[in-house]
Amino acid sequence: MAIRPERSLRGEAVATSRINLRDCFTEFTLSSMSRFFASLRMTEGEGFAMTLRVRLLRRFAPRKDTWRDFFRDLVPIILFSLLLVGCLPESEKEKPKGAEMKIYIIPIGDVEKDNLLRLSWALREQFEAAFEIGEPLPLSEYAYRAERRQYFATPILEELKQNIPEDAEKVLGVLDVDIFVPTLNFIFGQADLDGRVALVSLTRLREEFYGNSKNEKLFIERAAKEAVHELGHTFGLRHCLNLKCVMRFSNSLSDTDIKGVNFCEDCKRKLR
Ligand code: ZN
Ligand code: ZN
Repeated sequence: MAIRPERSLRGEAVATSRINLRDCFTEFTLSSMSRFFASLRMTEGEGFAMTLRVRLLRRFAPRKDTWRDFFRDLVPIILFSLLLVGCLPESEKEKPKGAEMKIYIIPIGDVEKDNLLRLSWALREQFEAAFEIGEPLPLSEYAYRAERRQYFATPILEELKQNIPEDAEKVLGVLDVDIFVPTLNFIFGQADLDGRVALVSLTRLREEFYGNSKNEKLFIERAAKEAVHELGHTFGLRHCLNLKCVMRFSNSLSDTDIKGVNFCEDCKRKLR
């Protein structure tokens, strides 16, 4: 075996692989490989690194007449790698292990900061996530329908989707205007099922809206229930028949008042 010691380590590895290592690797036992590395004036670690490199060269370096073999070897490896990536759960692919999920609360138009803070405290009780109040978004006037004196929720939700902060897992948009979707007189909120965005409106959760006297505690309780409900949808939860479950559909404010702020055991299981 012709080894030229004056060559660099890299030069030797490449050169020897071209000259005669192809046969060497089939013949060498581990101990004879150690002697071989010594003769190259390499440490055993360097030698093994070189072995791997040469093995890869042997395996993958195409010769003129073996392009078909080369691709035949490569395709199953690529397919296997894709299969492995495909088998990883979504959470493994998207975020590093141990990283805490971040959910943004984004005011759309004028929303009192105090209400946002109290909402974020209530949400922390229900979700294992870090809540952060994000930069406010303007309320788009093109979503306003003068004939109904309400805002059409769907385009607002779409706009929110275009403004998801980079590090956000989910975003909850909070409005203090009356919102609707065409088939209903009004809605308390809207969400993308199993998506990343949800909306909640505070307007109809105040006692004053119905001509009653102010009840701040009740207002925040309602806001928390509706916010938890809409975010629950983004985690894939559908409406629940349990009267006390926060995922029960609220057709009116009395439904909101009857249900609790917590997920029932069934919904909790699905949430995990
Ligand atoms: Zn719902
Ligand atoms: Zn439930």
